[in-house]
Amino acid sequence: MDAAELAARQALIAHARRLGPSGLSAGTSGNLSLRWTRAGTPGLLITPSGVDYAALQPEHLAFMRLEDGRWGGPLKPSSEWRFHLDILRARPEVQAIVHAHPTHATALAVQRRPLPAFHYMVAQAGGRDIRCADYATYGTAELSANALAALQDRHACLLANHGLIATGARLEAAFHLALEVEALARQYLLALATGTPVILPDDEMDRILVAFRHYGANAQNADASGNGQGAPAAAAP
Ligand code: 13P
Ligand code: ZN
Repeated sequence: MDAAELAARQALIAHARRLGPSGLSAGTSGNLSLRWTRAGTPGLLITPSGVDYAALQPEHLAFMRLEDGRWGGPLKPSSEWRFHLDILRARPEVQAIVHAHPTHATALAVQRRPLPAFHYMVAQAGGRDIRCADYATYGTAELSANALAALQDRHACLLANHGLIATGARLEAAFHLALEVEALARQYLLALATGTPVILPDDEMDRILVAFRHYGANAQNADASGNGQGAPAAAAP
């Protein structure tokens, strides 16, 4: 592995180690991937399955070929390699994927409910709502297909009875979006518990989606949060 790949692996590990302290996942739950081309072969780097993040070393990550899913490394790649691979294949703008089981997003996903436009920051995920993907067993091609459908024109989704997926044009962007979705889920659950949240109308969310294209210091390649997601492919569903 060259110096650039070592740095990419170290960045993935650094973010994996933040999953626990940031409340995004407990134990070995969750997984991360980064688009990576090795010697001209398009692929991805992905965290291994069931490894304590504190013990994770750069060589433990698998390199998986985008074309056929063949992988190399001393440890099995994440059990969710299928949706990481399928999302990176289907969405060329996505560079990184964070999957996690944060408490509030998962509590909502257990009810198989989306995050509606109760707060304008929902648009950070690229649309008027954040969908909840239909349930399927973890690690299956069916879960991957359900996740891809829920991610249509979106940067993030919930996974029924499971957790969330956040994508980004950079690893930091995907991680920050995962944190934002969890914060939104917490706010929404609290609002539901104390009353009836007012949902913003479609035309207001569409204005927010347009405004987000120019938000932040880095407007030329930033979206909602200025964190480099790129403008949503299709703002209006
Ligand atoms: P892995 O340890 O295999 O990545 O699985 C964790 C997980 O969150 C499965 O959905
Ligand atoms: Zn999971």
